[in-house]
Amino acid sequence: MAVLGIKHLAIAVSNVDEALAQYQRFLGVAADAKPRDLAQAGSREAHFFLGDVQIQLCQSYESDHRFARHIAQHGEGLHHACLSVDDIHDAVERSLASGARLKECKSCQVTGIHEHPEGWIAFLEGDSVPGMEIEYMQVYREGEMPERFKKPRQI
Ligand SMILES: [Zn+2]
Repeated sequence: MAVLGIKHLAIAVSNVDEALAQYQRFLGVAADAKPRDLAQAGSREAHFFLGDVQIQLCQSYESDHRFARHIAQHGEGLHHACLSVDDIHDAVERSLASGARLKECKSCQVTGIHEHPEGWIAFLEGDSVPGMEIEYMQVYREGEMPERFKKPRQI
C-alpha cells in the first residue's frame, strides 16, 4: 500500500465564521468559501483548497463534541489529517499489525472501513503516530461511487 498524499486537514476552531474571515483576510485564500451547518456531523464547517489539499475549518455545536473537546485539551489546531491511499484495506491492516487501533467515525457511528461521499474511509485512534490523528481515504475511481452518494443530474 502507498500513501498518495494529503486529502484534507481538519482544523478545530472555536468560531468557524471568524476563523474563515481570518484565513481570507490574512492569507488571501478561500474567497468563495462559506461556512455550512453539517447537522449529521454536529459541526459547522468551512472547506476550501490550498493547492491540492482541502482545509476543513470545523466548529462543534456542543461543548461535548469532538472539535470542542479537542480545543479544550489542546487549543485550536490540527484535529486530523486525511491521507489518501491506494488500498485502504492494506493501509488499515498494516496499521493494525503495527499496534494502531481503529476509532469510530463520529459522523456515521461506524468503526473501521466504510463508505463516505468521496471514498472509503477509516479512522485510527489519535495516538497511532505523533502529531496527527489519521483518517485514511481510498478515493472512488470511475464507477465505484455507491448509488446513494450520486447527485441527481441537473438539466
Ligand atoms: Zn463515516
